[in-house]
This record gives sequence, structure tokens and C-alpha cells, in this order.
Amino acid sequence: MNPAAAQRHALVLFSGGQDSTACLAWALERYERVETVGFDYGQRHRIELACRQVVRRQLAASFPRWAARLGDDHLLDLTTLAKLGETALTAERAIEWQANGLPSTFVPGRNLLFLTFAATLAYRRGVQVLVGGMCETDYSGYPDCRDNTLKALQVALSLGLDAPMTVETPLMWLDKAQTWALTEALGGQALTDLVVEHTHTCYRGERGLRHDWGHGCGHCPACLLRARGHAAWRAAA
Ligand code: ZN
Repeated sequence: MNPAAAQRHALVLFSGGQDSTACLAWALERYERVETVGFDYGQRHRIELACRQVVRRQLAASFPRWAARLGDDHLLDLTTLAKLGETALTAERAIEWQANGLPSTFVPGRNLLFLTFAATLAYRRGVQVLVGGMCETDYSGYPDCRDNTLKALQVALSLGLDAPMTVETPLMWLDKAQTWALTEALGGQALTDLVVEHTHTCYRGERGLRHDWGHGCGHCPACLLRARGHAAWRAAA
């Protein structure tokens, strides 16, 4: 593939959650060909892996212009991550603040590993753009979501692969209310409805309760962020 074509193709880190679904829609608007990659890292909320496929199918069914651009999906096995240390995302542990100022849901190096594996896959697929939903505006303080971390990783990946690798993070400076607004701007009510109904955010993996912002326990940090962002967006609309 020639270099210009490689820049028109993107690989989206797609978990099946609200943020990565917004990123996928964003990428489908901009790139001619968009592939997706997900990771099985022993997450407690592995129900999101099933949601990924539902969201992809729904996006293709509801948005024909995007269906033509949506390429292959890849699922990588990173279950080693869960074996390396107990966190509240990968083990039955309380979700709480730790002495180091980070929540117990922090999986050290998770996004560094995800992006590095994604870059390896992208290289093989002739893709030079990675898209991730990392955000430091309205987040849990994870240091591997910060803009500087990702800029440094972009440089390291490009040097280590000896090929340009761009890391796009369209949500970096958006709060959750603005992410809802971006979703609406990209795909209107149909995309907002799709995100509410089919994406998964809850750390506890609960799908049972249906709130106006979607499914989830309603109490974990991920649900609270999603719910508060939705309420702020609705209030501003
Ligand atoms: Zn929850």
C-alpha cells in the first residue's frame, strides 16, 4: 500500500463502549477504510465484547455510508494482563480510591499495551492511523490516558516501527457532555439512540437496568460519568 493510502485507513481501538463508539463514528466520517480492534484482557465487564459486535452491526445497518467503509474486526487475547495483577477491572475487588491517588480500576500500562498491539496489527494491515477514545478532560486520572503519554507513545511507535504511526484521540479535550454532543453531530438521533441502547460502559458488567443514558448499574464510576455527562448534555440542549 502506498503511504498516502495508508493515511486514509484507520484502525480504531473499539471496546464496545460509548467513547470508542463515538471514535468509530468519527473515523468512519474521515477515513476511507476503518478496521476495529478489541482486547480480551480478562475484564469483569467482558459483556462489552459481545456489545462490540452488536454496535458494529447496528452502525452498518443504520448508516449505509459508513457500512461501505467499515472493514474487518480483530479481537486480540491479552488475558495475560489480568494475571499480572489484581485490579478492580479484572478481579472481584472493590472499586475505590487507592493511596496513590488512582482508583483501583487502574490497570497499569493498559492503554500503552493496547496501542502497541494495535500498532503491530496496523503495521501488518498497512494502516498508519490509530484512533483511541482516551480523554484527560473528564476522566479517572489514569496516566496512560493523558495527552503527553500518547504523544510520547506515538513517537516511540513511529521510531520503533520505522513507519509513521499517528495516534488520533478525538475525545482528548471533550468532557462527557461534549462526547454526547459529538455523537449527535456525527449521526443525529439515530446514533445517539444506538449508543444509549447498545454500547456498554458499566465496570460491573451489568446490562439489566435501562436508564435514559443506557444500561448499567448506575453506581460505579463509569456509570456515574456516563449518566452525569448525559444529564449535562440534555440540560444544555
Ligand atoms: Zn456501573
